[in-house]
Amino acid sequence: MKKHNFSAGPCILPQQVFKEASSSILNFNNLDLSLIEISHRSADFVAVMEEAVQLVKELLEVPSGYSVLFLQGGASMEFLMVANNLMKVRGKAGYLDTGSWSSKAIKEAKLFGDTQILASSKDKNYSYIPKDYPIPSDLDYFHCTSNNTIFGTQIKAFPITDVITVCDMSSDIFSKKIDVSKFDLIYAGAQKNLGPAGTTLVIVKDEILGHTGREIPAMLDYKIHITKDSMFNTPPVFPIYVSMLTMRWLKENGGVSWIEKVNQQKADLLYQTIDHSSIFEGSANIEDRSTMNATFLLTNTELEEEFNKMCANGGINGLKGHRSVGGYRASMYNAMPLESVQVLVEIMNELERKG
Ligand SMILES: *Cc1c(COP(=O)(O)O)cnc(C)c1O
Repeated sequence: MKKHNFSAGPCILPQQVFKEASSSILNFNNLDLSLIEISHRSADFVAVMEEAVQLVKELLEVPSGYSVLFLQGGASMEFLMVANNLMKVRGKAGYLDTGSWSSKAIKEAKLFGDTQILASSKDKNYSYIPKDYPIPSDLDYFHCTSNNTIFGTQIKAFPITDVITVCDMSSDIFSKKIDVSKFDLIYAGAQKNLGPAGTTLVIVKDEILGHTGREIPAMLDYKIHITKDSMFNTPPVFPIYVSMLTMRWLKENGGVSWIEKVNQQKADLLYQTIDHSSIFEGSANIEDRSTMNATFLLTNTELEEEFNKMCANGGINGLKGHRSVGGYRASMYNAMPLESVQVLVEIMNELERKG
Protein backbone atom coordinates (compact mmCIF):
# COMPACT_ATOMS: atom_id res chain seq x y z
CA MET A 1 0.00 0.00 0.00
CA LYS A 2 1.27 3.43 -0.94
CA LYS A 3 1.84 5.71 2.06
CA HIS A 4 -0.07 8.93 2.70
CA ASN A 5 2.74 11.35 2.01
CA PHE A 6 2.52 14.64 3.93
CA SER A 7 6.15 15.55 3.21
CA ALA A 8 6.89 19.27 2.80
CA GLY A 9 9.23 18.94 -0.16
CA PRO A 10 10.24 17.10 -2.20
CA CYS A 11 6.71 15.88 -1.97
CA ILE A 12 3.84 13.90 -3.36
CA LEU A 13 3.05 13.98 -7.08
CA PRO A 14 0.15 12.28 -8.85
CA GLN A 15 0.58 8.49 -9.10
CA GLN A 16 -0.24 8.65 -12.81
CA VAL A 17 2.68 11.07 -13.25
CA PHE A 18 5.08 8.68 -11.49
CA LYS A 19 4.00 5.92 -13.87
CA GLU A 20 4.38 7.95 -17.04
CA ALA A 21 7.66 9.43 -15.85
CA SER A 22 9.00 5.94 -15.10
CA SER A 23 8.18 4.63 -18.53
CA SER A 24 9.77 7.68 -20.19
CA ILE A 25 13.07 6.70 -18.58
CA LEU A 26 12.98 3.35 -20.37
CA ASN A 27 11.40 4.28 -23.66
CA PHE A 28 10.33 7.82 -24.46
CA ASN A 29 7.73 8.47 -27.20
CA ASN A 30 8.43 4.96 -28.58
CA LEU A 31 11.85 6.15 -29.72
CA ASP A 32 13.50 3.11 -28.14
CA LEU A 33 15.57 5.67 -26.27
CA SER A 34 15.29 7.13 -22.79
CA LEU A 35 14.08 10.69 -22.25
CA ILE A 36 17.34 11.33 -20.41
CA GLU A 37 19.62 10.15 -23.21
CA ILE A 38 18.24 12.16 -26.11
CA SER A 39 19.44 15.63 -27.11
CA HIS A 40 17.64 18.50 -25.45
CA ARG A 41 17.64 20.06 -28.94
CA SER A 42 15.79 17.10 -30.47
CA ALA A 43 12.27 17.71 -31.71
CA ASP A 44 10.96 15.31 -29.05
CA PHE A 45 12.38 17.30 -26.15
CA VAL A 46 11.72 20.74 -27.65
CA ALA A 47 8.07 19.68 -27.81
CA VAL A 48 8.18 18.90 -24.06
CA MET A 49 9.60 22.32 -23.25
CA GLU A 50 7.05 24.05 -25.45
CA GLU A 51 4.15 22.16 -23.92
CA ALA A 52 5.42 22.88 -20.40
CA VAL A 53 5.59 26.62 -21.13
CA GLN A 54 2.18 26.54 -22.81
CA LEU A 55 0.58 24.73 -19.85
CA VAL A 56 1.94 27.29 -17.38
CA LYS A 57 0.44 30.06 -19.51
CA GLU A 58 -2.90 28.29 -19.80
CA LEU A 59 -3.28 27.11 -16.22
CA LEU A 60 -2.27 30.44 -14.67
CA GLU A 61 -3.79 32.60 -17.44
CA VAL A 62 -0.48 34.41 -17.91
CA PRO A 63 -1.08 37.68 -19.79
CA SER A 64 0.96 38.60 -22.86
CA GLY A 65 4.22 40.40 -22.20
CA TYR A 66 5.44 37.76 -19.76
CA SER A 67 8.03 35.04 -20.37
CA VAL A 68 7.96 31.59 -18.79
CA LEU A 69 11.31 30.01 -17.93
CA PHE A 70 12.48 26.70 -16.50
CA LEU A 71 15.82 27.32 -14.79
CA GLN A 72 18.12 25.53 -12.35
CA GLY A 73 19.51 26.26 -8.91
CA GLY A 74 16.19 26.06 -7.07
CA ALA A 75 14.26 28.93 -5.56
CA SER A 76 17.44 29.73 -3.62
CA MET A 77 19.15 30.75 -6.87
CA GLU A 78 16.26 33.12 -7.57
CA PHE A 79 16.99 34.90 -4.29
CA LEU A 80 20.14 36.28 -5.91
CA MET A 81 18.97 36.35 -9.54
CA VAL A 82 16.07 38.62 -8.62
CA ALA A 83 18.37 41.13 -6.94
CA ASN A 84 20.94 40.83 -9.71
CA ASN A 85 18.37 41.55 -12.43
CA LEU A 86 16.18 44.12 -10.68
CA MET A 87 18.22 46.09 -8.17
CA LYS A 88 19.81 49.15 -9.73
CA VAL A 89 23.40 50.05 -9.00
CA ARG A 90 23.10 51.91 -5.66
CA GLY A 91 19.43 50.99 -5.71
CA LYS A 92 17.13 49.69 -3.04
CA ALA A 93 14.62 46.95 -2.51
CA GLY A 94 11.94 46.27 0.09
CA TYR A 95 11.18 42.84 1.54
CA LEU A 96 8.39 41.36 3.58
CA ASP A 97 9.95 39.00 6.12
CA THR A 98 7.56 36.14 6.86
CA GLY A 99 9.88 33.23 7.54
CA SER A 100 13.11 31.38 6.89
CA TRP A 101 12.78 31.56 3.10
CA SER A 102 12.10 35.30 3.13
CA SER A 103 15.08 35.91 5.37
CA LYS A 104 17.33 33.87 3.11
CA ALA A 105 16.13 35.96 0.15
CA ILE A 106 16.86 39.14 2.15
CA LYS A 107 20.36 37.96 2.98
CA GLU A 108 21.18 37.49 -0.71
CA ALA A 109 19.65 40.82 -1.75
CA LYS A 110 21.84 42.62 0.81
CA LEU A 111 24.85 41.65 -1.29
CA PHE A 112 23.48 43.81 -4.11
CA GLY A 113 22.27 46.98 -2.43
CA ASP A 114 20.13 48.68 0.19
CA THR A 115 17.68 46.00 1.29
CA GLN A 116 14.95 47.18 3.62
CA ILE A 117 12.73 44.95 5.70
CA LEU A 118 9.35 46.65 5.38
CA ALA A 119 7.61 44.38 7.90
CA SER A 120 8.44 41.21 9.75
CA SER A 121 6.64 38.61 11.84
CA LYS A 122 9.86 37.37 13.42
CA ASP A 123 8.72 38.78 16.79
CA LYS A 124 6.22 35.91 17.09
CA ASN A 125 8.25 33.16 15.45
CA TYR A 126 6.66 33.93 12.08
CA SER A 127 3.23 32.73 13.17
CA TYR A 128 1.36 35.49 11.31
CA ILE A 129 1.45 37.64 8.17
CA PRO A 130 2.10 41.38 8.76
CA LYS A 131 -0.48 43.64 7.12
CA ASP A 132 -0.88 47.35 6.35
CA TYR A 133 2.79 48.30 6.20
CA PRO A 134 3.91 51.06 3.84
CA ILE A 135 5.66 50.13 0.58
CA PRO A 136 7.74 53.14 -0.52
CA SER A 137 7.31 54.08 -4.17
CA ASP A 138 11.02 54.64 -4.74
CA LEU A 139 11.97 50.97 -4.35
CA ASP A 140 13.44 49.11 -7.30
CA TYR A 141 11.16 46.25 -6.29
CA PHE A 142 9.11 44.74 -3.49
CA HIS A 143 9.55 41.04 -2.60
CA CYS A 144 7.25 38.74 -0.67
CA THR A 145 6.77 35.01 -0.06
CA SER A 146 3.21 33.85 -0.75
CA ASN A 147 3.28 30.72 1.41
CA ASN A 148 5.59 30.02 4.31
CA THR A 149 6.24 26.33 3.98
CA ILE A 150 7.95 26.00 7.35
CA PHE A 151 5.64 28.11 9.53
CA GLY A 152 2.33 27.29 7.84
CA THR A 153 1.21 30.83 7.02
CA GLN A 154 0.00 32.16 3.68
CA ILE A 155 -0.72 35.60 2.28
CA LYS A 156 -4.47 35.80 1.59
CA ALA A 157 -4.51 39.35 0.18
CA PHE A 158 -1.41 40.68 -1.54
CA PRO A 159 -0.51 44.30 -0.85
CA ILE A 160 -1.20 46.80 -3.60
CA THR A 161 2.02 48.49 -4.70
CA ASP A 162 3.14 50.87 -7.40
CA VAL A 163 6.57 49.27 -7.63
CA ILE A 164 7.79 46.09 -9.31
CA THR A 165 6.39 43.18 -7.30
CA VAL A 166 8.24 39.89 -6.95
CA CYS A 167 6.84 36.81 -5.25
CA ASP A 168 8.36 33.52 -4.18
CA MET A 169 5.45 31.12 -4.76
CA SER A 170 7.45 27.93 -4.34
CA SER A 171 4.97 26.17 -2.09
CA ASP A 172 1.59 27.33 -3.34
CA ILE A 173 1.95 27.88 -7.07
CA PHE A 174 -0.90 26.16 -8.98
CA SER A 175 -2.77 25.57 -5.70
CA LYS A 176 -5.27 28.39 -6.24
CA LYS A 177 -6.14 31.08 -8.73
CA ILE A 178 -3.79 34.05 -8.85
CA ASP A 179 -3.87 37.20 -10.91
CA VAL A 180 -0.47 37.09 -12.61
CA SER A 181 -0.91 40.67 -13.86
CA LYS A 182 -0.56 41.88 -10.26
CA PHE A 183 3.02 40.55 -10.20
CA ASP A 184 6.08 41.37 -12.26
CA LEU A 185 8.08 38.31 -11.38
CA ILE A 186 6.97 35.02 -9.86
CA TYR A 187 9.30 32.14 -9.10
CA ALA A 188 8.84 28.68 -7.67
CA GLY A 189 11.13 25.72 -7.09
CA ALA A 190 9.36 22.77 -8.72
CA GLN A 191 9.53 20.31 -5.83
CA LYS A 192 6.62 21.63 -3.77
CA ASN A 193 3.70 21.45 -6.14
CA LEU A 194 4.94 20.98 -9.66
CA GLY A 195 7.55 18.27 -10.12
CA PRO A 196 10.82 16.83 -8.85
CA ALA A 197 13.62 19.02 -7.51
CA GLY A 198 15.92 20.31 -10.22
CA THR A 199 14.03 23.02 -12.01
CA THR A 200 12.59 26.39 -11.04
CA LEU A 201 9.67 28.02 -12.76
CA VAL A 202 10.05 31.74 -13.41
CA ILE A 203 7.32 33.95 -14.85
CA VAL A 204 8.66 37.40 -15.63
CA LYS A 205 7.30 40.54 -17.25
CA ASP A 206 9.71 41.29 -20.07
CA GLU A 207 9.64 45.06 -19.74
CA ILE A 208 11.08 45.09 -16.18
CA LEU A 209 14.41 43.63 -17.32
CA GLY A 210 17.54 45.42 -18.45
CA HIS A 211 17.29 48.63 -16.43
CA THR A 212 19.80 48.18 -13.62
CA GLY A 213 23.06 49.35 -15.14
CA ARG A 214 24.66 46.18 -13.80
CA GLU A 215 26.67 43.65 -15.74
CA ILE A 216 25.02 40.30 -15.16
CA PRO A 217 26.80 36.95 -15.62
CA ALA A 218 25.08 35.05 -18.45
CA MET A 219 23.71 32.20 -16.34
CA LEU A 220 22.11 34.71 -13.97
CA ASP A 221 20.61 36.92 -16.68
CA TYR A 222 16.88 36.40 -17.25
CA LYS A 223 17.13 38.13 -20.63
CA ILE A 224 19.58 35.55 -21.91
CA HIS A 225 17.41 32.67 -20.70
CA ILE A 226 14.40 34.28 -22.41
CA THR A 227 16.26 34.70 -25.72
CA LYS A 228 17.37 31.06 -25.55
CA ASP A 229 13.95 29.63 -24.54
CA SER A 230 15.42 28.21 -21.29
CA MET A 231 18.07 26.38 -23.34
CA PHE A 232 21.08 28.64 -22.89
CA ASN A 233 22.74 25.58 -21.42
CA THR A 234 21.48 22.00 -21.05
CA PRO A 235 18.14 22.21 -19.26
CA PRO A 236 17.18 19.68 -16.55
CA VAL A 237 15.18 17.56 -18.98
CA PHE A 238 13.67 15.10 -16.52
CA PRO A 239 12.33 17.61 -13.94
CA ILE A 240 10.88 19.71 -16.78
CA TYR A 241 9.22 16.65 -18.33
CA VAL A 242 7.71 15.55 -15.01
CA SER A 243 6.51 19.11 -14.33
CA MET A 244 4.85 19.06 -17.74
CA LEU A 245 3.12 15.76 -16.89
CA THR A 246 1.91 17.19 -13.57
CA MET A 247 0.45 20.22 -15.34
CA ARG A 248 -1.24 17.93 -17.88
CA TRP A 249 -2.78 16.03 -14.96
CA LEU A 250 -4.00 19.28 -13.43
CA LYS A 251 -5.50 20.45 -16.71
CA GLU A 252 -7.24 17.12 -17.40
CA ASN A 253 -8.86 17.22 -13.97
CA GLY A 254 -10.23 20.73 -14.23
CA GLY A 255 -7.30 23.07 -13.74
CA VAL A 256 -6.52 25.49 -10.96
CA SER A 257 -10.15 26.31 -10.08
CA TRP A 258 -10.80 22.59 -9.51
CA ILE A 259 -7.72 22.04 -7.36
CA GLU A 260 -8.42 25.19 -5.35
CA LYS A 261 -11.71 23.65 -4.19
CA VAL A 262 -10.07 20.33 -3.32
CA ASN A 263 -7.28 22.10 -1.44
CA GLN A 264 -9.81 24.12 0.55
CA GLN A 265 -11.72 20.95 1.48
CA LYS A 266 -8.54 19.25 2.70
CA ALA A 267 -7.43 22.28 4.71
CA ASP A 268 -10.92 22.82 6.19
CA LEU A 269 -11.12 19.21 7.30
CA LEU A 270 -7.74 19.27 9.02
CA TYR A 271 -8.10 22.70 10.64
CA GLN A 272 -11.61 21.88 11.88
CA THR A 273 -10.22 18.76 13.49
CA ILE A 274 -7.44 20.76 15.14
CA ASP A 275 -9.85 23.43 16.36
CA HIS A 276 -12.37 20.96 17.77
CA SER A 277 -9.68 18.98 19.52
CA SER A 278 -8.61 19.39 23.12
CA ILE A 279 -5.22 17.77 22.50
CA PHE A 280 -4.09 19.50 19.28
CA GLU A 281 -3.42 23.17 18.73
CA GLY A 282 -2.64 25.09 15.53
CA SER A 283 0.69 26.94 15.45
CA ALA A 284 -0.24 29.74 13.03
CA ASN A 285 -2.57 32.71 13.40
CA ILE A 286 -5.99 31.46 12.26
CA GLU A 287 -6.66 34.05 9.54
CA ASP A 288 -3.19 33.49 8.04
CA ARG A 289 -3.27 29.70 7.99
CA SER A 290 -1.83 28.02 4.92
CA THR A 291 -3.98 25.67 2.85
CA MET A 292 -0.79 23.88 1.79
CA ASN A 293 1.16 23.37 5.02
CA ALA A 294 -0.76 23.02 8.29
CA THR A 295 1.41 23.35 11.39
CA PHE A 296 0.11 22.05 14.72
CA LEU A 297 1.22 20.78 18.11
CA LEU A 298 0.13 18.27 20.69
CA THR A 299 -0.65 20.28 23.82
CA ASN A 300 0.35 17.30 25.94
CA THR A 301 3.75 16.23 24.63
CA GLU A 302 3.45 12.93 26.50
CA LEU A 303 1.04 11.82 23.78
CA GLU A 304 3.67 12.27 21.07
CA GLU A 305 5.05 8.76 21.18
CA GLU A 306 1.58 7.25 20.87
CA PHE A 307 0.59 9.63 18.06
CA ASN A 308 3.79 8.94 16.14
CA LYS A 309 3.18 5.21 16.48
CA MET A 310 -0.41 5.50 15.30
CA CYS A 311 0.69 7.59 12.32
CA ALA A 312 3.35 5.07 11.37
CA ASN A 313 0.82 2.22 11.60
CA GLY A 314 -1.64 4.20 9.50
CA GLY A 315 0.88 4.72 6.71
CA ILE A 316 1.32 8.45 7.38
CA ASN A 317 4.66 9.78 6.10
CA GLY A 318 6.45 13.10 6.57
CA LEU A 319 4.39 14.66 9.36
CA LYS A 320 7.26 15.84 11.53
CA GLY A 321 7.36 19.63 11.89
CA HIS A 322 10.37 21.67 10.87
CA ARG A 323 12.89 22.01 13.71
CA SER A 324 12.25 25.77 13.96
CA VAL A 325 8.57 25.24 14.81
CA GLY A 326 8.51 21.75 16.30
CA GLY A 327 5.34 19.69 16.51
CA TYR A 328 3.75 18.55 13.28
CA ARG A 329 3.31 19.82 9.76
CA ALA A 330 0.88 18.30 7.31
CA SER A 331 1.72 19.36 3.77
CA MET A 332 -1.32 18.89 1.56
CA TYR A 333 -0.05 19.74 -1.89
CA ASN A 334 -2.16 19.41 -5.05
CA ALA A 335 -1.54 15.70 -5.59
CA MET A 336 -2.70 14.71 -2.11
CA PRO A 337 -6.19 13.24 -2.23
CA LEU A 338 -8.82 14.20 0.36
CA GLU A 339 -8.78 10.54 1.47
CA SER A 340 -5.24 10.90 2.86
CA VAL A 341 -6.32 13.82 5.03
CA GLN A 342 -9.32 11.76 6.17
CA VAL A 343 -6.94 9.00 7.29
CA LEU A 344 -4.87 11.49 9.29
CA VAL A 345 -7.94 13.08 10.84
CA GLU A 346 -9.28 9.68 11.92
CA ILE A 347 -6.01 8.96 13.69
CA MET A 348 -6.12 12.36 15.42
CA ASN A 349 -9.71 11.74 16.53
CA GLU A 350 -8.83 8.27 17.78
CA LEU A 351 -5.99 9.65 19.86
CA GLU A 352 -8.37 12.24 21.28
CA ARG A 353 -10.82 9.50 22.35
CA LYS A 354 -8.01 7.53 23.99
CA GLY A 355 -6.67 10.85 25.33
C1 LIG B 1 11.47 25.17 -0.47
C2 LIG B 1 11.37 26.62 -0.60
C3 LIG B 1 12.47 27.39 -1.06
C4 LIG B 1 13.80 26.80 -1.39
O1 LIG B 1 13.75 26.08 -2.54
P1 LIG B 1 15.04 25.37 -3.19
O2 LIG B 1 14.50 24.93 -4.49
O3 LIG B 1 15.43 24.27 -2.27
O4 LIG B 1 16.11 26.40 -3.30
C5 LIG B 1 12.28 28.75 -1.19
N1 LIG B 1 11.11 29.34 -0.88
C6 LIG B 1 10.06 28.64 -0.43
C7 LIG B 1 8.79 29.34 -0.13
C8 LIG B 1 10.16 27.25 -0.28
O5 LIG B 1 9.10 26.55 0.17
